[in-house]
Amino acid sequence: MNPQAFVTACPVGCEAPLSATGIVLPEGPLLRCADCGQLVSQVTAARYWETMKQFDQPGYNQPGAPSQRERGSRVARRRLNAIAALLGRRPQDVRLIDVGCSRGHFVRTAADLGFRAEGVEPAPHIAAAARAAGLNVYTGLLEEQRFPERSFDAVTLFEVIEHLREPRKLLAECRRLLRPGGVLLLSTGNIASWTVAAMGPRWDYFDIARDGGHISFFNPQSLGRLAAACGFAVVRIQTARVKFHERGEVPAGRYTLGKIAAELLNYPARLLGRGHDLRAYLRRPVNT
Ligand SMILES: [Zn+2]
Repeated sequence: MNPQAFVTACPVGCEAPLSATGIVLPEGPLLRCADCGQLVSQVTAARYWETMKQFDQPGYNQPGAPSQRERGSRVARRRLNAIAALLGRRPQDVRLIDVGCSRGHFVRTAADLGFRAEGVEPAPHIAAAARAAGLNVYTGLLEEQRFPERSFDAVTLFEVIEHLREPRKLLAECRRLLRPGGVLLLSTGNIASWTVAAMGPRWDYFDIARDGGHISFFNPQSLGRLAAACGFAVVRIQTARVKFHERGEVPAGRYTLGKIAAELLNYPARLLGRGHDLRAYLRRPVNT
């Protein structure tokens, strides 16, 4: 193991050793926890913080093409409807906070549906841009906001936990802020996916130069174990989507064929937990 590695233990909290895998990145092979199968990067702290700077670049995460924006809103509406259904409440009776909300696309969709929606974002320029667009977004880390306990009915964490060396701290804060029975929805990548089986180190998600700060990679079991360690009940864990090539990596014809094959595999992947998008609906147990 790189003696200067930023991550030196399983982020889920296992005490098992980490050993090298065949997934070799520029930072060295990813390491696997012998207990839960979590993979971690060997990136140094200096390089980790350098790649995290991309989130505060003025042009970061600008709205994409209309079709992309529409897809994003559709996914967000589906997730919001699922949260309201789990809570058994109308949107206007749900106070929700999106952690790591970036420019606030999800907060905007939630507010449009009638949720009492807020966001928190550590990158100051991006948080300011979200506020300038009329959203209720705070600057900083969730822990820094000092919300009273049981402030929220729902907390969302999209593509956040793969950046954290110690995700248990953030999940503990989410649990404190949720009222009993409240819902935490989180998403991350799935290393038990067919995408990883087919692509290995070529999967963009492992590329810290592209996805700044990606250091910790989950599978459904390790995510369930993290949830339980932090006092959450698992409502459901789902996966979706498969791919075999990144765009531009192979000739256009081969890329298209791979995309068609991946489309055909989407449904079985979802059924078998082998998609590369991993999502968990968790709940703070009622009598806690
Ligand atoms: Zn582990």
